[in-house]
Amino acid sequence: MKTLQELTRPNIWMLKPYSSARDEYKGAAASVFLDANENPYNLPYNRYPDPMQRELKEELGKIKKVDPESVFLGNGSDEAIDLLFRAFCEPGKDNVVAIDPTYGMYQVCADVNNVEYRKVLLDERFQFSADRLLEATDDSTKLVFLCSPNNPTGNDLLRPEIEKLLGTFQGLIVLDEAYNDFSEAPSFLSELDKYPNLVLLQTFSKAWGCAAIRLGMAFASKAVIGVLNKIKYPYNVNQLTQRQAIEMLHNYDEIERWVSTLKEERKYLETAFVTLPCVLEVFPSDANFFLARMTDAVRIYDYLVSEGIIVRNRHNISLCRNCLRVTVGTRPENERLLEALRLYK
Ligand SMILES: *Cc1c(COP(=O)(O)O)cnc(C)c1O
Repeated sequence: MKTLQELTRPNIWMLKPYSSARDEYKGAAASVFLDANENPYNLPYNRYPDPMQRELKEELGKIKKVDPESVFLGNGSDEAIDLLFRAFCEPGKDNVVAIDPTYGMYQVCADVNNVEYRKVLLDERFQFSADRLLEATDDSTKLVFLCSPNNPTGNDLLRPEIEKLLGTFQGLIVLDEAYNDFSEAPSFLSELDKYPNLVLLQTFSKAWGCAAIRLGMAFASKAVIGVLNKIKYPYNVNQLTQRQAIEMLHNYDEIERWVSTLKEERKYLETAFVTLPCVLEVFPSDANFFLARMTDAVRIYDYLVSEGIIVRNRHNISLCRNCLRVTVGTRPENERLLEALRLYK
């Protein structure tokens, strides 16, 4: 890998970050806080939250078995994605490479930041080749985006290909593991020390059942995390979110139960789907959703809407012609979907 200084935009490398009141006095021991121009009334909402989310990172570090200094927390994974562009990609000059199809936010953030976004098509089994991705890179490629399990295809990417890319690419590899909790494949989190060019993304929005609180995680070397922390808004994760996330971490058993139920429900839905006349193919999934090729995705999508059931129409996405993406719900929700599809003519 290139040095972090070579990868970072020069202005960001030189940047002196904003120092907040809570950066300058970090202790909890004091009892009189007259440093941040807060209102002393209206507890507990009156105080600024911890800008570095130290208690939350401690608790998270225990469950994920990582050093809190290797953790960045943001307003959803989307904040981490945007900060990666702003930290490493010079607008109008640098580029990034990503698999296609994949999660739409990588391209949106590239476009917002005026960074060239190069797509490399997956094969018919929705797999990528490290060599083909590398062929699309050049000396100005700062980031490569992978997503495993991939959205919207649902499958894990091949581990040996990911490892090959990690061992070869000179920039940063952003591996989005938003759905890894639902997969049998181990997370790359335990490989962080081995690959200084790896940035892992995870989220509280899926398996953790907390999409409403907006909390995303990035894991990387302390040096890379240091760059993200330098450019984030000082109070990017609010106090209510920090409290709720700590509570969720204390209820880890419940998350594990949700995940195993959802995996069973996924199997139930997939098994029923292959027997439906309007379904041509169900693609194997390692996530809490699956992709299905239908006889006529657009017409079936509209029909389901008229029945009050919303799935995701992926007909216009690369390699996804006539495909719907179905999120696994509760048993009664899944039953309603199946019943509607059985009655479809
Ligand atoms: C849902 C999803 C996320 C989560 O984004 P948040 O901003 O954390 O809610 C990240 N990556 C992928 C691929 C997703 O599908």
